[in-house]
Amino acid sequence: MNRIAIPKHEWDEKLHQLLSSFDLYAPVENDFSCDYVKLDADTVPEIVYNKPKPVTPLKKFFLPVKENVTARANGAHPVVILGAPNCDVMALAFLDQIYLDEEYYDPAYGARRDRTTIISSDCLGIQEHCHCTSYGIEPTGNEHSDLSMALLEEQVILTIFNKKGESFLEKLGLVVTIEPEKQLLEALQNKQQEVKQLLAKQNGKLPDYQETGKLVNGSGDEIWKKYASDCVSCGACSAICPTCSCFLLIDKPGFQKIRQLDTCQYPGFERVAGGEDALGPLPDRFRNRYMCKYVWKPQKYALKACTGCGRCIEACIGQINKNELLMELSN
Ligand code: SF4
Ligand code: SF4
Ligand code: SF4
Repeated sequence: MNRIAIPKHEWDEKLHQLLSSFDLYAPVENDFSCDYVKLDADTVPEIVYNKPKPVTPLKKFFLPVKENVTARANGAHPVVILGAPNCDVMALAFLDQIYLDEEYYDPAYGARRDRTTIISSDCLGIQEHCHCTSYGIEPTGNEHSDLSMALLEEQVILTIFNKKGESFLEKLGLVVTIEPEKQLLEALQNKQQEVKQLLAKQNGKLPDYQETGKLVNGSGDEIWKKYASDCVSCGACSAICPTCSCFLLIDKPGFQKIRQLDTCQYPGFERVAGGEDALGPLPDRFRNRYMCKYVWKPQKYALKACTGCGRCIEACIGQINKNELLMELSN
């Protein structure tokens, strides 16, 4: 694993030079939150480092809410996404299993993946609902991104995971020859360790991923009725979820097809011609999301279908906290 450290002001200059040939996105704080913006000369110095997680999940760059999948894609700029937290990177790796499957390869998704370089961000702090480590996911970058970055002592530390990451650095004129100072790397490792301890303390009572699957699968009806009584079927929990992958295909005149993201929390998600609806009752629909994440997806895919980002908790208009539900199940 190669690493390089570069003074922040030099890194900013390098990114600035790329603005004409790449579309660069990174988290930037606004009055209300922190979210991805398309960078320009003014926003490059404002990139947020080390903080978990932008409001919007990484999947939005690859699965737009709505798109015409029959339209020809025009030659688009290469894209660089900086500052993706590892929960989102792992969620994208999960989506790759579905959308880049050899048998059902999705060309629109695949083209976006090919032209995008992902620079993940080491989280050097946590938020109230972060629980990645409970599901075995580290809050630091790994080889599912091309590079990772962390800002420490005004140095941007970059870790290179693959050829794409290496060639991105070459475009910046950065050669990976000199290792960052040992002291700087030690300071980074200490911070990473602190973050893991904070997460362990915050989520000590949360069952792990495997145990959650068993609990959800073996649960009776009551708990779902109880929590679903606060659900208004808005779908926010799954729309914001970085691993949710469901969509509708809508036929339009001229043999066009529109793909629109869908969620199992909407009434009518499973309604078929004739009016039958296997997920008609709200508690069944509500439970479906948990079965999907912790029981059915693990039967088919190696990577986790919940990466512990906590967005579904933050987005819920009924203030339903999935982790409270899971801890209640484990009691
Ligand atoms: S289920 Fe919730 S915590 Fe898990 S990945 Fe989706 S939004 Fe994040
Ligand atoms: S079935 Fe529900 S929980 Fe599963 S991917 Fe689709 S929207 Fe998400
Ligand atoms: S966000 Fe909350 S209220 Fe909305 S569908 Fe999900 S569980 Fe129900």
